Amino acid sequence: MSVTITPSTHAVPDAEREEKVAAPGFGKYYTDHMVVCEWTEADGWGTPELKAYAPISLDPAAMVFHYGQEIFEGMKAYRQPDGSIALFRPEANAGRFKRSAARIALPEMPEELFLETVDALVKQDAGWVPEKIGESLYIRPFMFATEVGLGVRPSNRALYMLIATPAGAYFNPANAVTVWISTEYVRAALGGTGEAKCGGNYAASLVAQRAAAKEGCDQVVWIDAVERKWIEEMGGMNLYFVKGSGAGATIFTPKLTGTLLPGITRDSILSVAADLGYKVEEGMISVDQWRDGVASGEITEIFACGTAAVVSPVGCAKSAMGTWVTGDGNPGVITMQIRNTLLGIQHGTIADTHHWMKKVL
Ligand SMILES: *Cc1c(COP(=O)(O)O)cnc(C)c1O
Repeated sequence: MSVTITPSTHAVPDAEREEKVAAPGFGKYYTDHMVVCEWTEADGWGTPELKAYAPISLDPAAMVFHYGQEIFEGMKAYRQPDGSIALFRPEANAGRFKRSAARIALPEMPEELFLETVDALVKQDAGWVPEKIGESLYIRPFMFATEVGLGVRPSNRALYMLIATPAGAYFNPANAVTVWISTEYVRAALGGTGEAKCGGNYAASLVAQRAAAKEGCDQVVWIDAVERKWIEEMGGMNLYFVKGSGAGATIFTPKLTGTLLPGITRDSILSVAADLGYKVEEGMISVDQWRDGVASGEITEIFACGTAAVVSPVGCAKSAMGTWVTGDGNPGVITMQIRNTLLGIQHGTIADTHHWMKKVL
């Protein structure tokens, strides 16, 4: 199935686009086009259409507005040294999108169809891909229930859409993230939707995010729903703990128990850290072990990782059990080494030994 392409008749003029791409921010500007693809239970997937970015019109009784049947992805296209553009592990996003759909009772989009739409949009809007290290085109695929009706059941219609926004390097090495470990709210329990990338998980997290902000924190750290002690993840990112220092350091991350979102950045760092010669471990770490590990000096660095920010150092942790700080408030040496290695692979300045990059143009 190929994508039907109807170029925009009112694309942003070159000079204005270049100005925007030079200082992109995040989610501030959207590219000239989007992709839309309809699914119905009767006919399956239609032909995806690439067309001018524009508002859409939906019936007020469309099911997504009432029961929240919605999923999304986040992925990036990076400018390469030769001027070409490449996507980072797009098959991993296609696979996760299918798994999220299955959990939310939305139709599973074939990987090839998903990848074809991403390819088409990046090609069409190539002029929106920034050039500098750390900058990228952030791509947001999403899907939601469009059947009209208030009966509670899986929708028999869905709309898949794809939009893109140029993203700046919003990493500030002087600013480690301060986190609030929430003992009041729960993000996910076994059997729930923690593993699915769905809007509903985020809707349920916002009140905790607001509580964190009230405590002067940038992000929420979630602990498990049952024992209320095991560290799971941070906001929309996974967490890593560095134990020890130098060549003998261990890079540790909470294991995927069924309630964590299986991050593609998390997965990539397991490989990158091993490639760099570190010992890599997935396991359980409790709030107490975090606090004690920092106090004894065993835990030397902490960072969060995800597609949007790639790697962000975590400094201060606050919770009902106290406040403690990792390191000296500056990003750790190993944190920066992992960040720079991953960014180097993404920008084509470091050998892509795992064949993660897929050239688009
Ligand atoms: C998307 C997401 C992540 C990070 O996943 P990446 O594939 O690395 O971007 C982590 N946690 C949550 C809750 C997420 O939604």
